[in-house]
Amino acid sequence: MALLGILVQKGKTVKMLAANNTTTQGKKGDADTMTTHSTPASDFIRNIIEQDLEANKNDGRVVTRFPPEPNGYLHIGHAKSMCLNFGIAAENTGGVCHLRFDDTNPCKEEVEYVESIKSDVRWLGFDWGHHLYYTSDYFDRLYEYALHLIKDGKAYVCSLNAQEIRHYRGTLTEPGQDSPYRTRSVEENLDLFERMRRGEFEDGSHVLRAKIDMASPNLNMRDPTLYRIRRVGHHRTGNKWCIYPMYDFSHCLSDSIEGITHSICTLEFEDNRPLYDWVLDALPVDCHPRQIEFARLNLSYTVLSKRKLVELVDQGYVTGWDDPRVPTLTGLRRRGYTPESIRNFCGRIGVAKRDSTVDMALLEHCVREDLNRRAPRVMGVLNPLRVVIDNYPEDQVEKLEAVNNPEDPSMGARNVPFSRVLYIERDDFREEPPKKFFRLAPGREVRLRYAYFITCVGVVKDEQTGEVVELHCTYDPETRGGGSPDGRKVKGTLHWVSAAHSLKAEVRLYDRLFVTPNPGGEKNGPGFKTCFNPNSLETLTSCRVEPSLAGAAPGSRYQFERQGYFCVDTVDYSPGALVFNRTVSLRNSWAKIEKAHRNQR
Ligand code: ATP
Ligand code: MG
Repeated sequence: MALLGILVQKGKTVKMLAANNTTTQGKKGDADTMTTHSTPASDFIRNIIEQDLEANKNDGRVVTRFPPEPNGYLHIGHAKSMCLNFGIAAENTGGVCHLRFDDTNPCKEEVEYVESIKSDVRWLGFDWGHHLYYTSDYFDRLYEYALHLIKDGKAYVCSLNAQEIRHYRGTLTEPGQDSPYRTRSVEENLDLFERMRRGEFEDGSHVLRAKIDMASPNLNMRDPTLYRIRRVGHHRTGNKWCIYPMYDFSHCLSDSIEGITHSICTLEFEDNRPLYDWVLDALPVDCHPRQIEFARLNLSYTVLSKRKLVELVDQGYVTGWDDPRVPTLTGLRRRGYTPESIRNFCGRIGVAKRDSTVDMALLEHCVREDLNRRAPRVMGVLNPLRVVIDNYPEDQVEKLEAVNNPEDPSMGARNVPFSRVLYIERDDFREEPPKKFFRLAPGREVRLRYAYFITCVGVVKDEQTGEVVELHCTYDPETRGGGSPDGRKVKGTLHWVSAAHSLKAEVRLYDRLFVTPNPGGEKNGPGFKTCFNPNSLETLTSCRVEPSLAGAAPGSRYQFERQGYFCVDTVDYSPGALVFNRTVSLRNSWAKIEKAHRNQR
């Protein structure tokens, strides 16, 4: 058993153990294999599929589907579903995963979303091949199926309004009552349904309902609505239809039409499963897929509901669907997350049947771990403080060798220019250093990474404000490269850039969007819009980065030594104006959580 992660559940932290998942904790050397090809942990869904295969169900086929509704951008919760559905297809010989747009609600759906979803699925590394489908392609067949139910006396046109339908439905403790329209004749139902389709009636004046059982303990079975009138155009079918099928009717039939073997969905559809099965049993279909539910991903410090994300975007709380603070795939990508880190995260959290919340720190840990292996190191100074090396010749420039990635020698080395005037991080100097502050202070010697030992010999302050504006230092030419021939030690190593050679850059320091672990999670709580983190974005405009970053491509990722991982923004980038987004800081809160947990045991 491997410690897989720690979940926060109902306010408590619980540990999560998973068998068979030790591959995610690979050794340094096999890091790449680990992220891209790690053997997924087995889980209850994979076990069911294995048993079905052993019993030769579905002639040994495995066909899954990922069925997003094109009413928003995909988020990291969808990534969990994609990793599961596309993952299972890939693990089974001949397995296929369909991408199906569940486009039955034209009021909220847009082509922009369809395109973004396709591009996000591809970005995450999945391929639907030629299996791209739209529920709207089945509208004719779904209509025929509805006629079939009516003819069999299993569906009727109901003319109660929405409020009345709700009233007649009853409650969890009381049975519902039959609609007065439940006894309409087949002929009348066929006539009314046909006229609904022709556009003779107003929205909401009639619906088609399944005739099941108004006393069923399962509310979904109390004559659910199958079709409703919506006199609006559809992004694919134009004005051909003004009645649209409901999820519970269209989803199972779309699955069946496509020959899906395992229809994997989230837990909230568990109570819809009897209806899924009822519809397929009531109709002459060749294929009856098996619906299996799993727990959706909840992530602390963020929201994973399209409705809430739409609100954040539409009401301007964030700059758009690709704001690096929102958990959409496009936001995470712009933030600098790699597809591998997200897939690895999904592998680690596993698949279960119990609702829980995963700690955001685990996601951050996954990207840090991936970027540690692949991101070149560079030096960037976020809050520059000027340093003059008094004993360094004025017109001299040295090229000092710097390692690109200590984790990966094959990434080589580069030269960084060193000269008399440098910038260091303002935070790395204290005029009156507190205990345990091992960086620069008056009279103190530190190492400049890849360069020399320097000693602070003078401090220049702004006369008016008293702010330190410049340091004067001396360097020891014997310490080139960072070692001292006499064996003397220094406690601090600072990053730096040469003032004359460095490039100006804007750096956006992103942090979590919400301050509370469960923003607006409680049903009757004050809501997610009351707990924004006021410091979720800090923009620094006078940063200086080393010259090797000139022309860095949009989207390229780096570790700024001692700071964190950063990527070149893909939107606000222009040649000559570098803008970096902080993906994640170097501080590994996940390691701390795990350590604390180990110590508790
Ligand atoms: P939301 O609740 O965010 O509006 P949704 O379920 O309405 O999401 P769909 O477009 O219908 O979004 O989702 C497509 C697929 O992704 C569905 O199979 C759904 O179950 C799954 N999915 C959505 N959110 C999550 C999540 N947080 N964790 C795992 N799977 C999810
Ligand atoms: Mg949905």
